Amino acid sequence: MHAAGKAKGVFSMKQFALPPNFAASSADILEALGFGVAIIDADNHQIVYANNTLLNLSGQTPDTLLGQSCHQLLCPAQQGACPISDLGRTIDNSERLLLRADGQKIPIIKTVLPLTLAGKKYLMESIIDNTTRKEMCDLLSAANENLKREIDNRRQAEEQLQGLAYHDTLTGLPNRAFFLAALDHAIAVAERSAAMLAILFLDLDGFKTINDTLGHASGDKLLAETAKRLVATVRKGDIVARIGGDEFVILCESIAHPEAVKAITDKIVASFDSAFNINGQEVFITTSLGAALYPTNGHCAEELLQNADSAMYKAKELGRNQSVLCTQQMQQDIYEYMQLSNHLYRALERHELILHYQPQIHSDSYKIIGAEALVRWKHPVLGLLPPGKFIPIAEKTGLIHAIGEWVVRTACRQNKAWQDAGLPKIPVTVNLSILQLNKPSFVQQIDAILAETGLEAQYLELELTESIVMHDLLTTVKALAALRKRGIAIAVDDFGAEHASLQYLTQLPIDKIKIAKPFVQGMEANKKDAAIANAMLEMAKKMGVRAIATGIETQQQVSLLKHAQCQEMQGFYFSKPLPAEDLARLLANGLSASFETA
Ligand code: C2E
Ligand code: MG
Repeated sequence: MHAAGKAKGVFSMKQFALPPNFAASSADILEALGFGVAIIDADNHQIVYANNTLLNLSGQTPDTLLGQSCHQLLCPAQQGACPISDLGRTIDNSERLLLRADGQKIPIIKTVLPLTLAGKKYLMESIIDNTTRKEMCDLLSAANENLKREIDNRRQAEEQLQGLAYHDTLTGLPNRAFFLAALDHAIAVAERSAAMLAILFLDLDGFKTINDTLGHASGDKLLAETAKRLVATVRKGDIVARIGGDEFVILCESIAHPEAVKAITDKIVASFDSAFNINGQEVFITTSLGAALYPTNGHCAEELLQNADSAMYKAKELGRNQSVLCTQQMQQDIYEYMQLSNHLYRALERHELILHYQPQIHSDSYKIIGAEALVRWKHPVLGLLPPGKFIPIAEKTGLIHAIGEWVVRTACRQNKAWQDAGLPKIPVTVNLSILQLNKPSFVQQIDAILAETGLEAQYLELELTESIVMHDLLTTVKALAALRKRGIAIAVDDFGAEHASLQYLTQLPIDKIKIAKPFVQGMEANKKDAAIANAMLEMAKKMGVRAIATGIETQQQVSLLKHAQCQEMQGFYFSKPLPAEDLARLLANGLSASFETA
């Protein structure tokens, strides 16, 4: 607040006297007004009267003010010409400046009225201090500016946040959340206009290897370059997003016909033909791509993405570097998968899992020398399901730990029960999943089960597939060694089905290999299969491990295997996997005499 404010209410000692042509009571009227008033001689523009309010406001006294030109004091901007008398204008609520005695200029609101008294012209000016309003205005506009800045800042922050929340910082592409929102919107539009749209799901082939060999920085660069290439390959309006490590999705709207999708996916796959330049180094990579169409392959974003993802997996299965369009069969498979995985959670507690046992035979005596426990699911609606239908689901959902433990316990308890019933003592063989073996507590779990069921370790065998064995060699070797130390035999299942087997076999503590079905079944017709089966038997012998031929279905296969000195056999030819009570009967009575004469 300026000095005039402080001066409020301070009356100057000396008062103006009005010119004689004013009535005596005029001064009282002018003093009673709550604002400043000045009377000016219209001919010479001299101030002839100022009321006390004006004196206080201006900091002047009657002495300093009387006879002064109003141009200098009350209207300094208008020096030289009076708007009223010289220019014939009116002044009404006009914003002007008042020059105070201390030299300060303060804002005022001024209204001027002409006044003629006894033929003499005067100007009567009302002067209202406008400082407070002006200050308020300034404060208001400053506040306004602040508010605007505040809003701008918030908007910028929100945009930044949105950018972070909806964009992938590595590639600058939209992320999963953005893509799903865009897809929802696109589906709604497509639904209204009965249009088709396509969702493409891409995964880079072998990206992990590149990441591991070239380093993460190069891996990141490759992802960023892939993003650029994808954006450059598709149409302008298509949305390319990165939704996972090396997973990208593309939304293509207004698809005229399903064949059009093929043209797009072919173009994308072909765009990976040329090398990527990563820090001056040429890097080649391919992509596997799955496509799903709205409305054919789904009606909501999640379903379409899921189906495009499954089609992408199909493309991987088919050998990578290609695209696959989702089919009805794939959708059916996904539906079945969902159904089964939902029910599998309850299967154990509802006692829907059972074990069947397939006998293993000695080729000389035809005696049962072992039994492989194979799990089945008695599904309340779908009937008896083979393990291939649900073990992969159990592995994906983590249920394999509970199921696997149940299988080992049930097989051990059953074997002990057979022994207690006086049946010949044979080892029972249990198939393992890698996830079980990699669990640090697995060996203790086996110890606990053996203790609980009372089965001696030598009557339990564990089977691992080669792919399992090759997964994490060090952990596997440790666990296998610990199990073997207890007297549990270890067998490698499906031996020969994977190519790198020999290299690993030398390093693994195992007791037995199970020659994979295809070699055994191809022995009759294919000399190469026969040669391989023979070589495996020979190699096992030299390495001091046992070998069992599996999948035997014919008498001729038996003869060929016997000729190759294979001593252990398993297959439908002898017996399919049987319920426990049927296997007990077989154990008690032996195989039919017809085998011995064959
Ligand atoms: P596997 O360990 O190779 O088991 C042998 C499979 O071949 C069994 O199929 C059996 O029924 C079948 N088989 C046996 N002899 C013949 C034959 O002469 N001809 C033909 N064509 N097939 C024959 P199953 O029971 O469907 O089991 C499939 C696979 O599921 C098993 O292959 C095993 O890897 C897995 N599996 C079974 N039970 C379990 C389990 O409790 N845990 C785990 N992790 N996997 C299991
Ligand atoms: Mg097996």
